[in-house]
Amino acid sequence: MQNDCNTVWNNCLHIIKEDVAEQAFNTWFMPIVPLRLEGNSLTIQVPSQFFYEWLEEHYVHVLKKALNSTIGEGAKLEYSVIVDQGNKQNAPFTINLPNRSSGAGNNRAMAGKKMGNPFHLEAITEPQDSQLNKAYSFDTFIEGDCNRLARSAGYAVAKKPGVTSFNPLMIYGGVGLGKTHLVHSIGNEIKENLPEKFVLYVSSEKFINQFIKAVQNNEVQSFQAYYLQVDALIIDDVQFFSGKEKTQEMFFHIFNHLHQSGKQIVMTSDRPPKDLKGLEERLLSRFKWGLTADLQQPDFETRMAIIHTKMEAEGIEIPADVCEYLAYTVDTNIRELEGVLISLIAHASLNRRDIDLELAKQIMKNIVHDIETEVGIDYIQKTVADYFHLSPDDLKAKTRKKEIVIARQVAMYFAKEYTNHSLKSIGYHFGGRDHSTVIHAVQAVNDMMDVNANFRHTLTDLQDKLKIKAA
Ligand code: ADP
Ligand code: MG
Repeated sequence: MQNDCNTVWNNCLHIIKEDVAEQAFNTWFMPIVPLRLEGNSLTIQVPSQFFYEWLEEHYVHVLKKALNSTIGEGAKLEYSVIVDQGNKQNAPFTINLPNRSSGAGNNRAMAGKKMGNPFHLEAITEPQDSQLNKAYSFDTFIEGDCNRLARSAGYAVAKKPGVTSFNPLMIYGGVGLGKTHLVHSIGNEIKENLPEKFVLYVSSEKFINQFIKAVQNNEVQSFQAYYLQVDALIIDDVQFFSGKEKTQEMFFHIFNHLHQSGKQIVMTSDRPPKDLKGLEERLLSRFKWGLTADLQQPDFETRMAIIHTKMEAEGIEIPADVCEYLAYTVDTNIRELEGVLISLIAHASLNRRDIDLELAKQIMKNIVHDIETEVGIDYIQKTVADYFHLSPDDLKAKTRKKEIVIARQVAMYFAKEYTNHSLKSIGYHFGGRDHSTVIHAVQAVNDMMDVNANFRHTLTDLQDKLKIKAA
């Protein structure tokens, strides 16, 4: 075990070394002592509270990346802080490194600078710990057309939990659009006005796991009793209840009880209730009792406002042209936008240069590189076929006409390069050919590139097209 944990940490250090300047590496990473590895959770010892805060504030994304690539997605990091006053009893803090797409962990550090409490400390379960992240408040939740209804419903609920007709309040929307942030805001606002209330935030995964454990340990009674004490229950990502019948049954029971006693229930989901497959009808119909509000993709103005506010919170000035450029370019979700801002700040500070349009473009280009691998086979087929004035069907057809064969081989080559499909699956997508045909195609393309400059040129052209569209 000891060995494992040293090896894991050494591997992390290798990755971290690539990402941070040498001096920063020596200052902040060399002093860390790996203590233990339990499952996917690594505990490291740091010399002081300040040291820990500094790491979280400045290097959480670096740590996250290193841990995720060494231990895997869902890796956890625990800190054991050497307490200065010689107190030996220091229970480790547990920070749950987010395992979804970029940014979520980073932004905590970001928001934290302003709020002073950036950390969502998991696993410290005092009986009535709300598990709320203080950094997620209405103050930091920027309003726009995309979220107005959900935000004001949330605000109304927060002011009068259990009393409005918005009970339950169900908030849904795609990934990174602010569901978790909004429901924490509701919880924090309730706590602010009514500190004696027991507000509880729980992800549905955690609820499921707790329930499974309770069943195993014969503790279902106390599990239920615990939840029945709650005054405002916030349960995030209920789509994960799909197909978990026993958990649903338990939740149904808790839900009814709380609702009947006038307690507030807030839920989120990544899709509207009607699309929640694998959820029992009776549970679904409960979800429809209150209000359902959705979060949408942020519009341009909201994206601008978000960039401004986040940068201001960091105390960083961002030129107007950069702000506009980013707001135009990153139009998917807010988490992604935050990820880009973090990279921008990191690059600017590590390389001691100002944030300008050139840097922003450079960073976007790197991100485009990451996205590149997500091009689909269909898309590759269409792009390659267009280029050769053919149709995608030609590439799948049986024909052995020379120009079609070449186009087909090129498309197979890109499918191998740019997607995660196996050779077998690629063959399947090209009219049910077998994997040896794909190997042959890749080989043929490589050979041709070696000897034919025109062909190389063709490939570069195509590569550019695939990259640009993928962005
Ligand atoms: P979801 O739970 O919908 O996947 P999150 O609540 O985790 O999304 O939001 C992703 C990130 O974007 C978070 O860091 C959050 O603070 C930020 N964010 C989302 N919506 C807003 C908003 N309206 N104003 C400011 N930050 C936002
Ligand atoms: Mg969420």
